[in-house]
Amino acid sequence: MEKTLVILKPCTLQRGLVGEITKRFECKGLRLAGMKMVRLTDEILSEHYSHLSTKPFFQRVKDSMMTAPVVVCCFEGVDAIQVVRTLAGPTNGRLAAPGTIRGDFSMSFQENIIHASDSSETAKAELNRFFKPDELFEYKQATFEYLYACDEY
Ligand code: ADP
Repeated sequence: MEKTLVILKPCTLQRGLVGEITKRFECKGLRLAGMKMVRLTDEILSEHYSHLSTKPFFQRVKDSMMTAPVVVCCFEGVDAIQVVRTLAGPTNGRLAAPGTIRGDFSMSFQENIIHASDSSETAKAELNRFFKPDELFEYKQATFEYLYACDEY
């Protein structure tokens, strides 16, 4: 079972899509383990987007993430990191296939609805960055036996 971080970006809050996007993860069968609204700072974004620090759009991306609060979420499931990335689609919304979150809701490289962790190492680091341990909840999903075969988890 894996946990992964999803950030509903400021564009998602401003466009009134929080429920719509969260619903996609819930319908897929991922377990919501944590969720809160936060206002991000330049400091935490510099850490979060450190892999982009040499890119010309680094500051612009950080500024966009500070224009409104975001909703940070932790979703759990078998192979949750890859499942969420697949649901999200590729970075550029204009190139993302219909049916993916970015394909259905984004026209932009930058304003692309969500952030999603891209590996188990980054998921661990990112969940630590945005959640305190007591903000992540363990509970049994009532539908669990209907989501997976017994040899899948
Ligand atoms: P992803 O979010 O798909 O994992 P990256 O980690 O490469 O993508 O980039 C982080 C965020 O930076 C993207 O979600 C997007 O908002 C922004 N970004 C990445 N590449 C570009 C670009 N070429 N132009 C504008 N914004 C970009």
